[in-house]
This record gives sequence, C-alpha cells and structure tokens, in this order.
Amino acid sequence: NKAKSAFLATMSHEIRTPMNGVIGMTRLLLDTDLTAEQREFADLIDSSGRALLEIIDDILDFSKIEAGKLVLESNVFDLHESLGDTLKSLGNRAHKKDLELACRISSSVPQIVVGDSARLRQIIINLVGNAIKFTRNGSITVEARRLPNDDVVEFRVTDTGIGIPAQDRERIFEDFVTLDATFSRAVGGTGLGLAIVRRLVGAMDGTIGLESSEGHGSSFWVRLPLPMSQEISAQKSEAMHQTFHEADPVMKPMKILLVED
Ligand code: ADP
Repeated sequence: NKAKSAFLATMSHEIRTPMNGVIGMTRLLLDTDLTAEQREFADLIDSSGRALLEIIDDILDFSKIEAGKLVLESNVFDLHESLGDTLKSLGNRAHKKDLELACRISSSVPQIVVGDSARLRQIIINLVGNAIKFTRNGSITVEARRLPNDDVVEFRVTDTGIGIPAQDRERIFEDFVTLDATFSRAVGGTGLGLAIVRRLVGAMDGTIGLESSEGHGSSFWVRLPLPMSQEISAQKSEAMHQTFHEADPVMKPMKILLVED
C-alpha cells in the first residue's frame, strides 16, 4: 500500500509539470490573434488541461494523506476574507450554470482565527464545487456560524440540486465512490473529493455530515475548531473588516451577506 501511494505521488507529480506547460502555453496562445475556430480549439485544450490537473491534484493529495504525509499548518488568518476570496473563485463556475451563489457569515464568527487556511479553502472548494456540479438550477448557499460556547465554526453548504438517496449518504465519503455513473461521466469526477474532505476534516479534529432530500437538494456541514487569534488587536481586526466590506467589482455578482444572529 505504501509503495502504491509513493508510486501515485511520483506519477502525479511527473504529470503535473508538463501539464502546467501545456496550460501555460495555451494561455499564451489565447492571447494571440486567432481565428474563431482556433480560439475554440485552444479554449478546449485549456479547459481539458485544467480538468486533468484537478484530477491529478486530487490523486496527489489523496496519496499524500494515505502516506501519512499530511502536515497541517497553524496560521493566523482573516476567516471572513478568506471565505469571501474562496467563493469569489467559485463564482464564475456557478454563474456559468446560471446558479446563484450566496454566502452568509454570522456576526458570531470570529474574524481573525488560528488554523490551516489553505486546507479550509480546499474543503470549501470541494463542497461548493460538488454543489455546483450536482445542481441544475437554483442556488447554492454557504453559511458560517459559531457554535454556542465553543471555538467551533460550522460551515454549511446548501444546494437545490439532485440530492442524495438515504442509503448512499455514508458511502459517498468512501474512496472512489461516485453515485450516478452517467451523471459523473457527464460532469467529471474521481469520487475522491469527499474522501479527501473527510480526511482533512478528521485531521483538523472536526466533524462532517449532511442532510439531503432526493430531488430537492443537499446540505453538507463541516464543524471545525477555529479559535480566535489572541495576537491581533481589536483595532487591526476592525481595519481588516473595513477592507473586506469595500468589495471590489469582481465580487459584485455574488451576494455576501453578513447577518446578525
Ligand atoms: P466526485 O465529485 O469526484 O464524483 P466526491 O467524492 O466529491 O466525488 O462525491 C462523491 C459522490 O457523492 C458524487 O459523485 C455524487 O454522486 C455525490 N455527491 C457529492 N456531493 C453532492 C451534492 N452536493 N449533491 C448531490 N450529490 C452529491
């Protein structure tokens, strides 16, 4: 099993490097004068390359975790800003499918926290990515709230998608499980996303679960200990808060609501 993980890690790495070359060069090509047909072809190389890279990233991550090489970082970061940035990067994907992506951060959620921001980002991207993938129309909502009397923050990703049958709600967290083969083939996916998320959440001492209604949607929640940072002064926190609220235009298509409990 160890040899298998090492093999996967090496292979993924070796594929990644030339793939980055292919994608980088395609982007340069797209910046040149092209006919409509050439542009369409180059666009396809670009999106196929990205899709392949996503799969490789998943496999690489999975094998790293399997090999016991997952090292969590503990950094001080602005949770509100980080969540906003993460969702901004997913906004395009949602809007391409005409889905609304909204985010609500309860005022109870501390702003400056200690944790692994990159892994949190990965968890949210996976859950929201799935929500976008498995929703044909409607909306995706991301909510964050702090659990009472605790340093635990709950993130909840709710969609109006196809839903998950009761008998499959545990199975989907297993490795390489995709439910609907035809749908999966159409939208792509290795069945590793939730397996990775489950391991990351476990490593962060958190919990994960879901509620779903077949045909109506799903709601995945993740609870993670994210203690408020003691280092940062209230003043600095206030300044960062303001920066976040002066949202740049890219943020416009997405609703970010800060709600009071
Ligand atoms: P992948 O997305 O690569 O198929 P995941 O491990 O992320 O793999 O998800 C496993 C399976 O769980 C998916 O193939 C899908 O059948 C189901 N699933 C995950 N998220 C959702 C969702 N939001 N709505 C409906 N089904 C979902």
